[in-house]
Amino acid sequence: MTIESKNPATLALHAGFRQDPTTGAVAVPIYQTTSYQFDSPEHAANLFALKELGNIYTRIMNPTNNVLEQRIAALEGGAAALAVASGQAASALAIQNVAQVGDNVVSSTDLYGGTWNLFANTLKQQGIEVRFVDPADPENFRRATDGKTRAYYAETLPNPKLTVFPIREVADIGREVGIPLIMDNTAAPILCRPFDHGAAVIVYSTTKYIGGHGTSIGGLIVDGGNFDWEAYPERQPLLNQPDPSYHGAVWTQAVKPLGPIAYILKARVTLLRDLGPALSPFNAFQTIQGLETLPLRIREHCRNADAVTEYLNRHDQVARVIHPSLQAGVDRVRADTYLQGGYGGLVGLELKGGLEAGRHFIEALELFYHVANIGDARSLAIHPATTTHSQLSLEEQLASGVSEGYVRLSVGIEHIDDIIADLAQALDRAAAAVKAAA
Ligand code: PLP
Repeated sequence: MTIESKNPATLALHAGFRQDPTTGAVAVPIYQTTSYQFDSPEHAANLFALKELGNIYTRIMNPTNNVLEQRIAALEGGAAALAVASGQAASALAIQNVAQVGDNVVSSTDLYGGTWNLFANTLKQQGIEVRFVDPADPENFRRATDGKTRAYYAETLPNPKLTVFPIREVADIGREVGIPLIMDNTAAPILCRPFDHGAAVIVYSTTKYIGGHGTSIGGLIVDGGNFDWEAYPERQPLLNQPDPSYHGAVWTQAVKPLGPIAYILKARVTLLRDLGPALSPFNAFQTIQGLETLPLRIREHCRNADAVTEYLNRHDQVARVIHPSLQAGVDRVRADTYLQGGYGGLVGLELKGGLEAGRHFIEALELFYHVANIGDARSLAIHPATTTHSQLSLEEQLASGVSEGYVRLSVGIEHIDDIIADLAQALDRAAAAVKAAA
């Protein structure tokens, strides 16, 4: 039995699994197995030939991972999903699935640093060029496009700027010429459903809000099933030309009887098979536990982040607060168009005392953890100028939205009074330390 619903709170608990067919277990079992007994030689041959879908080997699929995949696909309104070992693996595979040597991808400049490195260095070494453009003007994507452009890439709610990406605008530009938009929705699950706005593929680091408890690294790729890969055979050769790694399969044709899942099935049976970044079933289980309460947690993250924004915005030691609720003009219109139900759990602040104040503030925090992570149920903070962005020049830091006194908060779901009290005492102590040193 499957439970039908349009409501995320229900889907997060029930989509893709009701009970274990053999034991009746209600919690998703951890299928800690590498391999699966075939029913017959014919069954085995059919599975390998993709005439029917089923379990072969856990590097490629696993029943625990399958529940996670079905659940996220249901929440996103997508066709199917693929669980992988990390968010980094999700981004890499999402690109490698459509681009090869000599091809290019156009990406927003506003990216997580790890993704930037993957794009600017590792993919470049593999012969895939990533062209970075400022997302403030969606037309920049069109300008950077040529005959070898295979995908567009962006984050829904990138930090530190926290300006929401123009999803529909860029997706429409791509769809005119057969280019899919891949959205990293890590910072805005539940709040944004990128397929509703024309994106073709979603990637997640489940390490963040979806897992939510800081226990497990993981990633997901979701196929919207809403992109006509077959209509652009020259633009999308990897999906439309015979694939020698699967005895000449043309993915858009071979997968047709199974539904609009050519993109994600190809990623599973070629890239996951060959490169091997499989998610362990134990991590899939942990991620499912997180996913089950995601809608509830996201609500609380947003509520607390709003209150923190309001508090910091009135504080005399704070020069500027960065949060979508404080934006105006086109940025605010985009935030209100693409985020529903809240502006997310991330808040940036710039301290009047600059670098020294930033350092002292981080040191003085007691409830907030000082970690290079976001999206945990616990409150987290980091001072990018002395950590994540310290390898960049001052100009590069400023271009990426990081001033010397910038601090990134990932507001957790503790009681708001305790969160504010910690910020208040840390701001006081930072101001006193800067004054004492002057
Ligand atoms: N995408 C975003 C927006 C991230 O913040 C991160 C990690 O910080 C990643 C991708 C990479 O995910 P992971 O650390 O799970 O590999």
